[in-house]
Amino acid sequence: MQGEAEPQLRAWVEYFRDLGVHDFYRRGEFAPGAVAEETVVAVMQAEAAVVSAASSPSVVAVADGESDEAYPADAIPVEHFAATSASVPQLMKLVSFNKLAPLPAAKVPVAERAAALLAIQEEIGDCTRCPLAYAGRHKIVFGDGSLAARLMFIGEGPGADEDAQGIPFVGKAGQLLNNMIGAIGLTRDEVYIANIVKCRPPGNRVPEPVEANTCSQFLLRQIDVVQPEVIVALGSTAATYLLGAKQSLSSLRGRWHACRGAKLAVTYHPAFLLRDPRQKVEAWKDLQMVMAELGLKAAKKS
Ligand code: URA
Repeated sequence: MQGEAEPQLRAWVEYFRDLGVHDFYRRGEFAPGAVAEETVVAVMQAEAAVVSAASSPSVVAVADGESDEAYPADAIPVEHFAATSASVPQLMKLVSFNKLAPLPAAKVPVAERAAALLAIQEEIGDCTRCPLAYAGRHKIVFGDGSLAARLMFIGEGPGADEDAQGIPFVGKAGQLLNNMIGAIGLTRDEVYIANIVKCRPPGNRVPEPVEANTCSQFLLRQIDVVQPEVIVALGSTAATYLLGAKQSLSSLRGRWHACRGAKLAVTYHPAFLLRDPRQKVEAWKDLQMVMAELGLKAAKKS
């Protein structure tokens, strides 16, 4: 077994072991970092259904086609994310952030937000709730920015620079995001920035549903603490998990969606814009929609 598949499977083996699932080992004791090839193959066979469901976004069950509706009375409590093996199938589903948990009854006062975010960060701790914990992560990238932000940007997941520094969007894509924030007349420290997953997916691959869904309970609470007026989903992964539905970016752009009491706009991920700068014109249209909503004026060109 070669290439990216082996570290990925090792991460899964260690993850399932942490969940108490080790019946599929053929012999001997588990030693982290020393998983026998035959063990990995056994896991591959035993967990084939789970892994294939997780690795193919097209087979993810969509539990929430109506992504824009207000959360219902039967919203799924956050506790459903408890990482037990029984909950794994649930973790494959797409559920909008509106349906994951009821909105908090009261706003967290700005003066209490630092403590509230710290409590979330402490609960995350040295997280081993999903396979990303075993896939070469260096730092958990919690989130960054103003506690009173009116605008929140949500990306996909940390890259190498973010993994090294523990801060979101500090690499090349982050520089472009900073420019985008500047263009709408704000500075980076006036907005809040977070990601769908807080640990770097190996090789910068797209997070698996089980990873995004495990992490969502924390992002959801960060949103509820900061309570931005507007959220911008950067790219398709952020839009998919926040809205609980996989749709084309073009069908989601140019209109408002609802997320945790905020208005949500969808635009291109800065990394995509670096690859295809012609789309910056389109992204600017999305940002103009955000500016109009927040009463912001474009920065004067220097
Ligand atoms: N890409 C993301 O989606 N998030 C980051 O933090 C960095 C790059």
